Amino acid sequence: MLRLLRPSVTPPGGFRWTDPNTSHVTRAPNLVQVVSAAIVHRKANNLEIPDHFAEVIQDWLCRQIPNGMCVDEHGRPSKGMFRRSAETSVRATMALSKLGKRLGHALVSKSVATSRAAVCIHCSLNVPLAGCMGCRGVKSILEELKRGKGTEHDSKLLGCGVTGALNPIQVYIGMNTLIEAFPKDLKRCPAECWIRGNTNQGAS
Ligand code: SF4
Repeated sequence: MLRLLRPSVTPPGGFRWTDPNTSHVTRAPNLVQVVSAAIVHRKANNLEIPDHFAEVIQDWLCRQIPNGMCVDEHGRPSKGMFRRSAETSVRATMALSKLGKRLGHALVSKSVATSRAAVCIHCSLNVPLAGCMGCRGVKSILEELKRGKGTEHDSKLLGCGVTGALNPIQVYIGMNTLIEAFPKDLKRCPAECWIRGNTNQGAS
């Protein structure tokens, strides 16, 4: 999780948060008020309040602003905005899904997907995507790809900063498909990532 180096200083573009489920943008004069307003918005829309919501919002904000204004959990300066768009991610996810089908790889079970998702929601690379993740088009494609599948963590799953795929779908993709699709990128996964734990095993 990234955090602001100087939380009292207004970042470029102001204190804000775009809700990934509704695309609603909350703005306020400071971070505390952004969090309060974001909670009100989610409750009004019958959406669950994520654990450590203030930290989630701060992490998201840090990924929208220039390099060096935030630090990670080890005190290292942030690398700035993650710029993959929601549309690009949808395309990457559809390609991943089609590749798995073409290669005849099965999807993993719901229990495996759920345990993967439980890792992703705490990963600093589970990131909001630039653009409209909550747009009707993106949401309907996501639902089509999910086809009734899902995990209890779906409301907290965003895009994967390594593969660019949408995590609610990616957690169901077989390991062999991921290795085939991203032979080099997977080395960039953090140590705690579920993909890292399996890349040497070729598990599906
Ligand atoms: S790097 Fe791994 S744990 Fe992190 S979001 Fe991507 S798949 Fe999930």
